[in-house]
Amino acid sequence: MMRALSNSRYADVSRPSLAAQRARLLLALAPVALLAAGLFAATAHAVEVRFEPVAEGVYAFVGELGGRTAVNEGLNANLGLVVTPAGAVLIDSGATLQGARQIHEAVRRVTSQPVRWVVNTGGQDHRWLGNGYFRAQGAELIAHTAGEADMRSRGNDHVEALRAALGAKADGTVPTLPDRWLKQPDERLELGGVVFEFKHRGGAHTPGELLVWLPQQRVLFSGDAVYVDRLLGVLPVSRTLPWLATFAEIERLQPQKLVPGHGRVTDLATARADTRDYLQALRAHMKKAVDDGTDISAAVKSFDARPFMRLLNAAELMPGNASRVYLELERE
Ligand SMILES: [Zn+2]
Repeated sequence: MMRALSNSRYADVSRPSLAAQRARLLLALAPVALLAAGLFAATAHAVEVRFEPVAEGVYAFVGELGGRTAVNEGLNANLGLVVTPAGAVLIDSGATLQGARQIHEAVRRVTSQPVRWVVNTGGQDHRWLGNGYFRAQGAELIAHTAGEADMRSRGNDHVEALRAALGAKADGTVPTLPDRWLKQPDERLELGGVVFEFKHRGGAHTPGELLVWLPQQRVLFSGDAVYVDRLLGVLPVSRTLPWLATFAEIERLQPQKLVPGHGRVTDLATARADTRDYLQALRAHMKKAVDDGTDISAAVKSFDARPFMRLLNAAELMPGNASRVYLELERE
């Protein structure tokens, strides 16, 4: 009875309105596409990286919400920049060599300081494949050791996928591993006199997920532990249990400004609604399904996705996310 009810509930949402969802998605993407086309025509560079101020000496670039394209050069994610008296700290290095060059130009428009440190917040391409460029500029590359195996195993696949999506824009990109691996769940570094606290809680979107907390400014760079405006992606390497532990750490920190991995610079309430609530709902649903012996396709279909269909990319990502969380709960 319950299952039939939730099935029909899901059907009410998804079946009659699939065309409507597509139309909504197209409408949502249309201004982005027009803007991107305009920029492409107006400038030599396809993507314009622009760091916007978040706090004193702290900046964020907010990438597009859609997929990786030649126009956005795979920079469909957010980046961070912290300017210190002894050099700049870049948080995530972009997806390609050429993208990294454009990030560097954007840094130069903010500060004349060299990029001395690069932090990779995870193992997804746009978090670290620009590393080679910045190492050649003399930067030290920093990430959490829990991400090393993931970077080693997926780095070349990322480059192949980028070549397929970006064509020649991916040329010259060579996966370059960090120089300095953080080992502890909590590490504190002073970079150029600015305090950085790094927090790893066992992985989230990718195994090496690292929170970058600036206690003096109360700014958090969450990497892909937080998505807003668009639905988060659960990958085969994602783990939603430590993801929620990572989120609990963010709640403990009470950031004044939160720079998510994807979506606008935000606050804790929005991060809860767009990331935590979805993860919790999906886990609760799949836990019950596994405990009841419901098979995976019925469990995926009966998830009540309605509260999250407002997020961009929801229709495409929802089924894959749901089935991966089911498989994760089967293993727990
Ligand atoms: Zn991402």
